Amino acid sequence: MTELLQALTSAVPGLNIITDPDRIAQACTDWRKRYATTALAVVEPHTTAQVEALVRLCSQHGVAVCTQGGNTGLVGGAVPVADGAHATRPHVVLKTHRLRETLTLDEANLTLTASAGYTLHDIQEFAAAHGLLFPLSLASEGTCTLGGNLASNAGGVAVLRYGNTRELCLGLEFVNAQGERCGDLRGLRKNNTGYDLRHLLIGSEGTLGIITTACMKLYPAPNSRCVAWLHVRHIDAAVQALNHVQQHAFNELTSFEWMNAAAIELVQTHFPAKAPVGPSGCDHVLVEFSSLGSEDVLQERVTNVLGELMNLNPAVLNVTLAKNDKEAERLWALRENISEAQAKEGLNVKHDVACPVSRLPEFHHQALAAMDEAGLAMRPILFGHLGDGNLHFNLSAPRGTDAKAFLAQHQAALNDMVHTAIQACGGTVSAEHGIGQLKRDLLKEITASPNYRAFQAIKAALDPHNLFNPGKLVDY
Ligand code: FAD
Repeated sequence: MTELLQALTSAVPGLNIITDPDRIAQACTDWRKRYATTALAVVEPHTTAQVEALVRLCSQHGVAVCTQGGNTGLVGGAVPVADGAHATRPHVVLKTHRLRETLTLDEANLTLTASAGYTLHDIQEFAAAHGLLFPLSLASEGTCTLGGNLASNAGGVAVLRYGNTRELCLGLEFVNAQGERCGDLRGLRKNNTGYDLRHLLIGSEGTLGIITTACMKLYPAPNSRCVAWLHVRHIDAAVQALNHVQQHAFNELTSFEWMNAAAIELVQTHFPAKAPVGPSGCDHVLVEFSSLGSEDVLQERVTNVLGELMNLNPAVLNVTLAKNDKEAERLWALRENISEAQAKEGLNVKHDVACPVSRLPEFHHQALAAMDEAGLAMRPILFGHLGDGNLHFNLSAPRGTDAKAFLAQHQAALNDMVHTAIQACGGTVSAEHGIGQLKRDLLKEITASPNYRAFQAIKAALDPHNLFNPGKLVDY
């Protein structure tokens, strides 16, 4: 396959081509270190024109293209496939971080247009420098890219108020399997002229084309924010609290995150931030409100709404308001460091499930009851975007046991219990992390066959020779 690398060198001037084995190995290892595969090279285009030329040459040489943004994805989508029919196919990893041709803003249209390689943090900062808000917000925002956010339809902590990446995108450009530029960046809020290719590409996880540029919605930056920490007796009380807050402060409610007692205990063991003092053994909720109005008015409104909640609901045990931004950040750090705290204790079983908010408690109780019945003594480290009906239902090995051995023995059964419970409650096995290679077989198993055939038909129409991310998401 050196012919491909020679052809890329001569036909795509300026393209970075990396063949150093250590750098290839690094690019072929996913964030969670579950997959370690290989590739012919890592290629780093600077422009969309280079992406077009590169795709044409890869297609001619039969070399698969695995697109990688920040490589923070959690389902093995950004590294070449490790098993199955396509594992032996030669791949290049197309790393997008140098794709930074465009970064512009249309203030009157409340949009920005950016190349796929900018990090989410770059884009938030660019909007903020113009007094505007790009509301997508994830713990990985310093590393993940706009292209990766779109390809995985990322969610995060402000979906409740602003929607996920799909809802924030007004248009995108991508390079198709023939090496042509497709899509549009007009930034239209209304446009009913045929199939909307944007929506096919969003959430396609690098299997249908390479997203190069996108036009995203902006919002006025809030003038005030108020962060509250609630101690609640159980998840049922958290859902009741959400309902109350939605009824009385819908316009101001921005984030509503729930954490069980074990998650907060764990994060406090590994990080300095401490949760507000409250009754022990209960669950926790972090709520953020924001508004275009003044700080005083927002504080007063939140104090009234949460005071009323405590009076009405005895299962809401305590409410603490952050006194300033620094304190608010400390509270957010507790939520955002849970995954890292869990990683410090070794491997664990991760789930990213969602169902209607009204059925979350039922799911939670059913899944834990199934594990209890099976006599599985694990540590449930449970947290997530409760306001979106989305929980990260993570299960750690009991303290003092060998996590690797625990996983080898029980992972399949634990997955089965969680997946059965979430589907029984009308939910999904992947709320925001996607399918990648981790859940490819599961997706096939649980998707109704007319729907799955439609997935395969879409893949066949857009990428007939399986150039992009073969062996991921859909079996084709
Ligand atoms: P990568 O990991 O590089 O790629 C992800 C997928 O997109 C792959 O299939 C890849 O092939 C494809 N891809 C990447 N770029 C392109 C492109 N330009 N064109 C076509 N396909 C492309 N996710 C959430 O949704 N919500 C969260 O709250 C959240 N929190 C996280 C917290 C941490 C600490 C970490 C590590 C991850 C978290 N994630 C979360 C997952 C991850 O950060 C997001 O999915 C993110 O959107 C991935 O962006 P990326 O640039 O790293 O993409």
